Amino acid sequence: MKKIALSLLTVSLLAGFCAGLAGCDIGTSSRSEIKIGGKTMGTFYNITVIGDYPGGQDQLRHEAEEVLDSINKEISFFDRNSELSRFNQHRSTEPFKVSQDVADVVIASIRAGQELHGAVDVTVGPLVNLWGFGHVKPETLPPVPDDNAINAARKRVGLDKLHVIVGYNSVKLKKDNPQLEVDLSTVGEGFGADKLAELMDRRGIQNYMVSVAGAIRTKGLNSRGKDWVVAIEHPTTEQAVGQRLEIPVCTRGQAISTSGSYRNYKIDEKTGARLSHIIDPATGKPITHHTVSITVVGPTALWTDAIDTGLMVMGSDEALRYANERSMAIYTIVKEGNEFKSHYSKAMQQYLVCD
Ligand code: FAD
Repeated sequence: MKKIALSLLTVSLLAGFCAGLAGCDIGTSSRSEIKIGGKTMGTFYNITVIGDYPGGQDQLRHEAEEVLDSINKEISFFDRNSELSRFNQHRSTEPFKVSQDVADVVIASIRAGQELHGAVDVTVGPLVNLWGFGHVKPETLPPVPDDNAINAARKRVGLDKLHVIVGYNSVKLKKDNPQLEVDLSTVGEGFGADKLAELMDRRGIQNYMVSVAGAIRTKGLNSRGKDWVVAIEHPTTEQAVGQRLEIPVCTRGQAISTSGSYRNYKIDEKTGARLSHIIDPATGKPITHHTVSITVVGPTALWTDAIDTGLMVMGSDEALRYANERSMAIYTIVKEGNEFKSHYSKAMQQYLVCD
């Protein structure tokens, strides 16, 4: 079974701003800006600051990468020495001391899981590893796990088995099953974008956009004095490479993130089926519906990043029902036959009309 790192389907959330994106007026920049980017969390980060940054571009890069490196050391499911990995390797039900950051991310993830009735469940680590999307080398795994292996892994999964114990001067995580493994990949990018936004705020930056992969935070206005606009790329059936519809989304100072089954998937060489990296905790298997991506707009990137994966597990119809009942702004893209159709919740409308 091949793991295709980049899909043929290009649906992604591009952290961009108005200039150069389809559907936006391309006016000229009138204010200076500093732009940096680089690798992190197996993906990329980007920062655009309007005006100056204390100490200039090199200082911005140094401080941003310091923030991202520290997050890797705390919550990486792939770095076997990260705090999270050391908790996962702690095969005991004894409470395990962690930093406040790790506890905060776990608490937010458990809350999102409870809110979405377990559709997003950060204890899916054993299933993510079993399907070859985690830190266990795929070549050491069967191409497609059998039901016995899936059922055995499912016994180690469940938010009800994970607890956060807040003490007087320490915070600990506790597992009910010593084999439980937490995977924070679904919220790490959002957490990273929030932490980069906090850095910008601490440095007094009034106008910026930061992103870690598809998790984005913005503040103020772009270099042309307009609202920051990001683009959701939308595949079209007659698309020629390079020609892609881009749907501009005005962030209006909100966080925005996308979960998709287009970037990280595998092909089952026996059946030709595409196996998504998004696992339905209820079945222990990759989602099989035709929702290609779901974008969520909300107060923090940690929250939007946790919610978008859970909504992906639910699929577009159920996600839209859920979002409309709660006035939540979401945008879904569904493969219907050979067509890719967009749908969005009522609360999303305001973000689709850019000044
Ligand atoms: P999202 O939908 O945001 O998340 C999907 C991911 O969440 C899946 O890949 C799986 O890990 C997990 N997941 C699947 N189903 C569920 C579910 N139902 N509930 C909860 N979680 C689920 N990747 C690498 O290849 N190499 C690295 O070195 C690496 N380092 C990382 C370090 C950090 C700190 C973090 C946070 C992630 C790292 N990653 C790494 C993972 C990579 O960034 C993820 O693939 C990416 O974060 C997933 O984001 P997404 O937007 O593609 O998918």
